[in-house]
Amino acid sequence: MDLSIVIPLLNEDESLPELAAWIERVMLANNYSYEIIMIDDGSTDHSWKVIESLRSKNECIKGIKFQRNYGKSAALNEGFKAAQGDVIITMDADMQDSPDEIPELRKMVLEGNFDIVSGWKKKRYDNTLTKNIPSKLFNAAARSMSKIKLHDFNCGLKAYKKKVVKSIEVYGEMHRYVPVLAKWSGFSKITEKVVEHRPRKYGVTKFGWTRFVNGFLDLMTIFFVGKFGKRPMHFFGLWGTLSFLFGLTVFIYLTVSKFFFDKTGMTQRPLFFFAILAMIMGTQLFLAGFIGELISRNSAERNNYLIETKVGL
Ligand code: UDP
Ligand code: MG
Repeated sequence: MDLSIVIPLLNEDESLPELAAWIERVMLANNYSYEIIMIDDGSTDHSWKVIESLRSKNECIKGIKFQRNYGKSAALNEGFKAAQGDVIITMDADMQDSPDEIPELRKMVLEGNFDIVSGWKKKRYDNTLTKNIPSKLFNAAARSMSKIKLHDFNCGLKAYKKKVVKSIEVYGEMHRYVPVLAKWSGFSKITEKVVEHRPRKYGVTKFGWTRFVNGFLDLMTIFFVGKFGKRPMHFFGLWGTLSFLFGLTVFIYLTVSKFFFDKTGMTQRPLFFFAILAMIMGTQLFLAGFIGELISRNSAERNNYLIETKVGL
């Protein structure tokens, strides 16, 4: 199969028929063998009925229906598991992404031998204040943390090699940072393509202002897990030890000076509390690192390495 098109959706019944028809047109014009996997992420409108009726007309359309709303990441993850095509395209269901981009994206993955080709909504049709500006900041931060040169991490329209989607797990709200997850797994041939972005025709956006809070926290997670996820002690242990030693030094200094120079009581000096605080914090950090190590020793993922090829085995 040439292509799998994975579409996560939540309450998008108005868009689906038009979107499916448009994708079918593009597939037919290019003579691709394909499947469209629509994942209904707990819609409360008629989305699932629409998917069933679309399938009755076209066998290439497949559907997965969640019991409740689990989020875009979960939907993508299930779609990735089910996908059979050589190239996997993800796109939003709201028709903000144009199916006309698909052939070019596929070509870049195959001919350029890229692991991921990510869309870049260079000209965006969204609210400037609530989306475009914050998104610029996010992307800059994600770029500098991950060292992946992308302008638009969260673009819904992306193309992947089959191997990539089969080896990554999208969880939580990590759909914003799929290229980062891929890079952790060792897929670093990532590039971008400017894609056409269109205003939302039907329905409303499914992410409110919480997208910024969650996006920020996830970015921190990405950064921390990527750097110290498999060796938490190197982070907590270092800062814990430094903090403890600092506190201890100050404490010794206070003790010595109490007996030999300055006869005022130790607890009368602000520095005393500072030293105690530093020692307690140091111990806490050290413990956090130690517990982190114990957890990661027990994690089922601890020896999840991706083997590229083997000979003689
Ligand atoms: N979506 C989803 N589950 C959710 C939220 C969103 O499957 O919990 C889908 C949504 O239906 C759409 C895509 O994710 O197909 C992108 O959502 P939206 O267009 O609302 O995001 P925006 O374009 O505003 O960033
Ligand atoms: Mg949208």
